[in-house]
Amino acid sequence: MAQQTAISPTRAQDFPEWYQQVIKAADLAENSEVRGCMVIKPWGYAIWELIQQELDGRFKATGHTNAYFPLLIPVSYLEKEAEHAEGFATECAVVTHHRLEAQKDEVTGKTKMIPAGELTEKYVIRPTSETVIGAAFARWTSSYRDLPLKVNQWCNVMRWEMRTRLFLRTAEFLWQEGHTAHETQEEALEETHTMHKVYEDFQRDVLAIPSIPGEKTEAERFPGAIQTFTVEAMVQDRKAIQAGTSHFLGQNFAKAQDISFAGRDNTQQHAWTTSWGVSTRMIGALIMMHSDDDGLVCPPRVAPKQIVIIPVTPKEDTKQAVINHAQALADKLSAIRFHGQPIRVQVDTRDIGGGVKKWEWVKKGVPVRIEIGPRDLEKGSLCIARRDQPSNEKAFIAEDEFVANAEVLLQEIQDTLLKRARDFRDAHIRTASTMQELEDNFSGEGEADWLLVPWEASPEQEEELAKRLRISIRCIPCGEMGQGDSAPCILTGKPTTQRVLWARSY
Ligand code: AMP
Repeated sequence: MAQQTAISPTRAQDFPEWYQQVIKAADLAENSEVRGCMVIKPWGYAIWELIQQELDGRFKATGHTNAYFPLLIPVSYLEKEAEHAEGFATECAVVTHHRLEAQKDEVTGKTKMIPAGELTEKYVIRPTSETVIGAAFARWTSSYRDLPLKVNQWCNVMRWEMRTRLFLRTAEFLWQEGHTAHETQEEALEETHTMHKVYEDFQRDVLAIPSIPGEKTEAERFPGAIQTFTVEAMVQDRKAIQAGTSHFLGQNFAKAQDISFAGRDNTQQHAWTTSWGVSTRMIGALIMMHSDDDGLVCPPRVAPKQIVIIPVTPKEDTKQAVINHAQALADKLSAIRFHGQPIRVQVDTRDIGGGVKKWEWVKKGVPVRIEIGPRDLEKGSLCIARRDQPSNEKAFIAEDEFVANAEVLLQEIQDTLLKRARDFRDAHIRTASTMQELEDNFSGEGEADWLLVPWEASPEQEEELAKRLRISIRCIPCGEMGQGDSAPCILTGKPTTQRVLWARSY
C-alpha cells in the first residue's frame, strides 16, 4: 500500500495540483476575487519580509538607497522608448477616469457606479518603472558629479498576465526594482553584473536555490534592453523558473528620456542605465524546489519560525511544568543567533491534539520540531524531528547538547536542501549535439531534462523551434558552461563555440 501523505495529489501524481495544495496546506496565499491577483497570507508574507530584509541589506552594501515613485505612469512616458512600449503594451492596465458617478437603474432600482470625469492624460498602472524613474533621473542629472545614481524601489507592479499561477505569475505582484544611471558604459555593465551576482548569491545562500546564471538571447530580452542577465532555477518537475533579471539598458532609455549631463571634458553626454528586479515569484520557486508530499519545506534562513516546540501534556498535574520548561527552552534558543538574527522559536501551547499540531507545522515547513513531555523533563532530553528528513524520523537528544548545537543544526538543514537541489539540477542537465536528441527529449508532455546545445541560429529560428516544441532557451550560461569547443549548431550546422540551455518553463 502506498504510504499516506499529507498532500494529495503527490508530486508524482500531479505536480501543478500538488503545488496549489502545498500553498493551501501551509496557508501561504490564496486566489482573490480580483482577476489574477492573490492574497498573501501571514505565513507567506513573513517569508517575503525575510527575503526583503536580506536583499535590502545586500542592496545597501552594494551602494544603493531606497526611494519611491508614483504608481501611475503617464501613457506619454511609455511612448518615448518604442521597443519598451511595444513590449509591455498588451499587459497594461489603463486608468482613464478619475471619479465614479452613482446612477439609479429605473427598472431594477439598483444603484450603479459609472466611471466619469474622463482624463485627458491617460495613465497605466506601472508594469515596471524605467520610464517614470528615468524622468526623475533626467531632472536630477546635470553634471558627471551627479552620477552614479543608484536607487531601489520596493513596490507592487501590475502586468495583465493571461495565465496566472499563485506566486509564479500573478497580475499584481510585489517586487523590488533597482534603477541606476552611470557616466560610462563600463560602469553600467559592472553594475549589471554585480546585481546579477547578488541575485545568484542570495538565492543560493538564503533560499537554497542553486540557479544557473546566464544571459538571455535576443528573443528573450527585456523590452528596450541591450543585454538581459537571468538566474534560472530548476524545480522538481524539471521546469525552469526565471527567478530574477538584471538588464543593461545601454543609452536607449537615457536618449529617449534625456538623462544627460556635462561630462568631464565639458561635452554633453547621455548616461548609461541599468535595471534589475526580483519578485514574489521567488516564493513559488522556493516551494517547488524544496517541498515534498507532506507540504512546504522551508530553508531555515527564510523560515518564519525555525524551531517549534510542542509541549506534550498528557496529565493535568505536570502540564504547567512542561509548558514552563518549554518556554524556558525557547528563551534559551532565541538568545542564540543564526546569521546575525535571534533564532525564531515558537512554543505551541494551543489547546488542540498533538497530532494535529505536529502535522500543521510539518505542512508549514518549519525546519525543526521539538516535542517535550513530562518524562523528557526528568531525563533532560528532547525529541527532535527535522523537516528535511522523512516525517516519521525522530531523534532523542540531551537538551544541553541540542541547545549548544542549534545554530549548527539549522545550517546543516540549509546546506542539505541546497545540496539536494544542486544534485538534482546537475543530474538533469545533459548535453546534446543533434536536433534529433532535442526532439526526442522534448517530445510528449512529460517531464524533460534541460539540454545544453551548440547554438548560433537567428531569433526567428529560435522562436519557431520554441513554439513548435513549447520550450525556450533559458539562457546562454555564464562561465564555462556557456562555451565549448567549436561544434555544429544543432539547427543550422554552422560551427559555434556558444552553448545554450533549452528547457520547458513556467
Ligand atoms: P522583468 O522586469 O520583466 O525583467 O521582471 C523582473 C522579474 O520579475 C522577473 O525575472 C521575474 O522573476 C519577475 N516577474 C515577472 N513577471 C512576473 C509576474 N507576472 N509575477 C511574478 N513575478 C514576475
